[in-house]
Amino acid sequence: MNLKPRFLILTAALILLASTATWFAFQRITEGIVEQWGVRLAEAQVRYDSSRLMQPLIREIALSRQMAHSQLIVRWARQPDNPELTREAIAEMESFRRNFQDGSFFVALAGSGAYYHNNSQNEFAGRQLRYNLQPDRPADSWFYQIMNQGREFHLNVNPDHALGVTKLWIDVLIRDDDRILGVVGTGLDLDRFIRNIVQQAQPGVSTLFVDHNAAIQLYRDPKLIDFASIVKPEGEKKTIDQLLDHAEDRAFMRAAMQQLTDAGPERETDARVISRFVTVDGERHLAGVAYLPEIDWYEVTLLDLDVLMPLQRFSSVLLIFAATLLAALVLFNYVLNRLVLNPVAALEDAMLRVRDGDLNPVPLPPAKGEIGRLAGHFEAMSASVREHTHELESRVAARTEELRHLASVDPLTGLLNRRGLSERLNEEISRAEREGSHFGLLWVDIDQFKEINDFFGHSVGDDALKKVGEQISAGVRPYDCAARWGGDEFLILLAPCDLDTLAVLGERIRSSIESRLELPQDTGVTVSVGGCLAGPGDPLERILQRADQALYAAKEEGRNRVRIAGQETEAA
Ligand code: GH3
Ligand code: MG
Repeated sequence: MNLKPRFLILTAALILLASTATWFAFQRITEGIVEQWGVRLAEAQVRYDSSRLMQPLIREIALSRQMAHSQLIVRWARQPDNPELTREAIAEMESFRRNFQDGSFFVALAGSGAYYHNNSQNEFAGRQLRYNLQPDRPADSWFYQIMNQGREFHLNVNPDHALGVTKLWIDVLIRDDDRILGVVGTGLDLDRFIRNIVQQAQPGVSTLFVDHNAAIQLYRDPKLIDFASIVKPEGEKKTIDQLLDHAEDRAFMRAAMQQLTDAGPERETDARVISRFVTVDGERHLAGVAYLPEIDWYEVTLLDLDVLMPLQRFSSVLLIFAATLLAALVLFNYVLNRLVLNPVAALEDAMLRVRDGDLNPVPLPPAKGEIGRLAGHFEAMSASVREHTHELESRVAARTEELRHLASVDPLTGLLNRRGLSERLNEEISRAEREGSHFGLLWVDIDQFKEINDFFGHSVGDDALKKVGEQISAGVRPYDCAARWGGDEFLILLAPCDLDTLAVLGERIRSSIESRLELPQDTGVTVSVGGCLAGPGDPLERILQRADQALYAAKEEGRNRVRIAGQETEAA
């Protein structure tokens, strides 16, 4: 994989990792704050709701207690058949009725089960004795339960089928010392209660009241209220357990209730609140529980923190993470391209060119830092390679030229050798062909050279060869070309030339050698010369053959003479 995708993947992975870690940390912190805040909110809510519930209730309970303790009522309850006491007691009841908020009262007597009642419309004036409660009638069993339990005071949520209303009943026992004479009380309209206290809660906050059995007494959903709780056996009650999804939450609720009851009445003004997270309908809620000793109920407040402080509010943070990731990737990509990848690609391109032999300098884009230094080193290196190559090339060219020169020069005389002259001859043949020009060829051979070698030795022979060469060089025109053809034979190319020039120059060479070249012991050296004139269309072999034939003729005729093919002139 190339560097770019690797770096981009690495950057993305790092940012995602950091974002995830930050998100988790953020969630933990916010959750901690929300929890702390939630506990406080639950406590405040519980206290607020308790006082809202208690305010109207306390007055009604006090009035009910006062009514149960009323001398007129107690005396009458002892002798319910006394008409005088009955009249006074009913008057007392009516006076309490007018004070009760609901405008209603009830009195039920232990022995007869006589049930006295009047409502706010004063509907039953003069006939307050409504009917007699029966121990075997299920609708009346609340009365016998209250009496059996002997609790001085009891709150009961119960529909009164005979009256067609559902009320929160305040029941207080009428006592004559240890004897229970009956029950008095009043009712409060449950709908109003639920509306005012239980339903008024803000979204995400649910309030419910449960009795000491955890049976629900007040809740916004009447279907879950455990009406006539007192008459139901354990197991049939509608308890708070219905709302809680998990067994451990249900156990917590019972334990909290027990703990709050055990703590006793020491903190009456400032109710203690126990709170914990529980699951209601699959949603996490913060539950706060407080005990209301005045009515022996518990208030439970359930806070749906997702509604009160939804984490979705923080989704903009996720957006910021995503935007940061994108921006970082774009920026990283740009910087990586600019600072690393583009200069590296240019460098690679330049390296490949050098590898393929292109040593012309390629301008690299400007780069900084390590890459810049790398590019600088590469440029210096390729410049040095270029320089060395140039130097080597020129050295090779010089050496080649030298070798070429050596290959065409005779080392002994310094004249061209056979190879060198052959090239010139071919050039001259081409030129004659092209321009219709003529050139001459003289073939010079030392006479009796074998004898010189034999008589004076090889080095004297070599010396003679050198001197003959010098004389030939001195005898020809600057633009003529002399060569040692091999052994004691010399060839001279004369261009341009005609027959007369050929003869004159041949003779000049022959005579200069004869007159100037002497060996030890005054022995002279002579040469024989054969010449011919060549023109357009003459092949090399033919020209050489004609010159050779002329030389042969000179030798035949006695040596030390010049013979030109096609010319009868003779120089002796
Ligand atoms: P002619 O007059 O017929 O030419 O007689 P010649 O003795 O010169 O006979 P030829 O040309 O055949 O002999 C050439 C001699 O030149 C033979 C050989 O030993 C001698 N020779 C050839 N190359 C060299 C050389 O480089 N140095 C010396 N010293 N002698 C050479
Ligand atoms: Mg010879």
